[in-house]
Amino acid sequence: MPRKIYVFIGVQGSGKGTQAELLAKKFELCHISTGDLLRSSTGELKTKIDSYINQGNFVPNELILEILKERMVQHDCDNGIIFDGFPRNLEQAKALDTFLEVTKVIEIKISDSESLKRLLGRRVCEKCGRSYNIYTSPKPEVEGFCDICGGKLVKRADDNEDAIKKRIATYHNETEPLLDYYKDKLVSINGENTIELIFEELIKRLS
Ligand code: AMP
Repeated sequence: MPRKIYVFIGVQGSGKGTQAELLAKKFELCHISTGDLLRSSTGELKTKIDSYINQGNFVPNELILEILKERMVQHDCDNGIIFDGFPRNLEQAKALDTFLEVTKVIEIKISDSESLKRLLGRRVCEKCGRSYNIYTSPKPEVEGFCDICGGKLVKRADDNEDAIKKRIATYHNETEPLLDYYKDKLVSINGENTIELIFEELIKRLS
């Protein structure tokens, strides 16, 4: 059976990471979030990467591809891969085509104002990286602490208004053209709904 390769596309805060995680669990695929991979880097590389991320800029393509290629060969990716946050521009999409055949591309759609609101309310666990939201959902059971590991919930350094606005603009200019590039494989889903309903719709549309 061919490996399933899914790509999630959506403006920041669309909930694509949450849906990617649910889909990965259901289909036993690996979930690769380039944002998480970049944030888990260490040492000098981390200092370099953080300087791009915290200003709301893209990390250079060569660096992304290098980190990704290392991750993709791990055994949990044997059944297939869910990409979350990659590709983010045409050059990355063309690079992906040279080493894998994409099965489906899933767009999770929300408005810019919803994106801004969700990102300003986003809190992440500093220990396990799980995301919460003080305005929308999921809200933590105990304010300020992770339901899963009890870690402290903090704001991401790039979730400040200037960096968010820059990231939304970059999404429209650089990432949105991918919807046309992938038009034959595209499944678009309304992301302004509950997590459960979005996932239900996603499974229906993929089958
Ligand atoms: P995310 O967690 O997906 O919001 O990603 C956080 C930040 O990591 C982005 O704002 C970019 O600075 C960087 N990043 C993540 N994925 C990519 C990518 N595919 N290409 C370039 N930069 C990326």
